[in-house]
Amino acid sequence: MLNIPDSKNPRVVIIGGGFAGVSLAQKLKNKNFQVVLLDKHNYHNFQPLMYQVATGGLESGAIAYPLRKIVQDYKEAFFRMALVEKLDTDNKKIITDIGTIYYDYVVIATGSTNNYFGNTQIEKNSMVMKTIPEALNLRSLILENFELALQTNDLQLRKALMNFVIVGAGPTGVELAGALAEMKNAVFPKDYPDLDISQMEINLVQGSENILDAMSRKSSKAAEKFLKNLGVKIHLKTIVTNYDGNKVETKNGLVFETQALIWSAGVKGAPVSGIDTTLDRASRIKVNEFNQVEGFTDIFAIGDVAAMYGEKYQYGHPMMAQPAIQQGALLAENLERLEKKQSLKKFVYNDKGSMATIGRNKAVVDLPKLHFNGVFAWFVWMFVHLFSLIGFKNKSLVFWSWVYNYFVFDRESRVIIRPFRKNRINN
Ligand SMILES: Cc1cc2nc3c(=O)[nH]c(=O)nc-3n(C[C@H](O)[C@H](O)[C@H](O)COP(=O)(O)OP(=O)(O)OC[C@H]3O[C@@H](n4cnc5c(N)ncnc54)[C@H](O)[C@@H]3O)c2cc1C
Repeated sequence: MLNIPDSKNPRVVIIGGGFAGVSLAQKLKNKNFQVVLLDKHNYHNFQPLMYQVATGGLESGAIAYPLRKIVQDYKEAFFRMALVEKLDTDNKKIITDIGTIYYDYVVIATGSTNNYFGNTQIEKNSMVMKTIPEALNLRSLILENFELALQTNDLQLRKALMNFVIVGAGPTGVELAGALAEMKNAVFPKDYPDLDISQMEINLVQGSENILDAMSRKSSKAAEKFLKNLGVKIHLKTIVTNYDGNKVETKNGLVFETQALIWSAGVKGAPVSGIDTTLDRASRIKVNEFNQVEGFTDIFAIGDVAAMYGEKYQYGHPMMAQPAIQQGALLAENLERLEKKQSLKKFVYNDKGSMATIGRNKAVVDLPKLHFNGVFAWFVWMFVHLFSLIGFKNKSLVFWSWVYNYFVFDRESRVIIRPFRKNRINN
């Protein structure tokens, strides 16, 4: 049972406490609505720093923020940890794993999920990094592979255990490759003095001609140079076709023997069922310029899960934090306007730019009219990420971890708290 009391105010149910859902909830604070926030987790997950959890640079608590804390001092807001299973639009009902709730307005902010483009072998055998448990799994796998490499005398297997293949060179793949390269250069030689760490390989595989394809050519080339200097092997125009748990195969005939394939090559929308007729080809929910789901005035979708087609964004906005935050903020205003019977404001994305870091002192930054890289870009990257984290505790945890890691050349959180159990050595 959700046990939400009736209210004289209209009820807004927000499904998903990610960037979009939290932005909306924050803007609805103490307005004339009853706000009900639902999420299958009880925390907001700051995904941009997830690769640092996976590589032992940060503890998971530093990038997770309790959703209850976000709404705790609101006049009329409730959080329930619930997995939404279905929308019953005819009866204005949301069916969850803990019960059913009625809505006046419902906002779908369920984000995205990994896209394997139908390849079940890759889905079964690869590692991903969309949630904190997945990042912790990856951390465990990386460290366990090194422990296993120490224990085997099979030289081919040892090499495969120390070979990390990252598929997809968007910001996630690039940042992860940079972090792994830093571990190879600064951490693993000290931790595993009896292993030949020069045998560790980081292979970054990208289907298109450039890494960081969505960024400027200048940033893409600079990032490529930074990664190569760190020892990362980059394979452009290379499409991965299969991974059976031991061997990665590509369309152009490359083969990588590896016990760790990390898939960051695609995402698709993660809609709730019940509105399936309005999905686009990336499983995103088609919305109009007010984020209203096609055919409805009381159902909205915001963030990664929403596809708002326009002249500039032919296939919808980039699946990034800023469009999600901005859509959430505008929707709060539009919900108030709806209640006052005023006309709604159209969403216009304010693109503030994008950035990626490639290890210490190195980052690339694209602002609308300026592209730069190097140490200054790295400081900008750090400042923006620290500033964007929710909560003083998380900001200070991340800040002090970075200071420590920077001066000690260490990754303090390289601990296997929860072993990753997967029978991945398929002999
Ligand atoms: C590893 C990684 C790194 C990234 N780095 C960057 C970056 O550097 N910069 C950038 O701008 N963007 C980055 N992104 C993308 C960015 O995180 C997303 O665009 C952003 O999170 C989208 O926000 P959202 O609110 O739409 O979805 P999310 O933030 O994904 O939130 C969705 C929420 O919905 C909940 N949920 C989903 N389904 C259900 C359900 N059925 N029932 C209940 N709850 C549900 C989830 O638990 C989650 O809390 C990164 C993403 C990843 C995975």
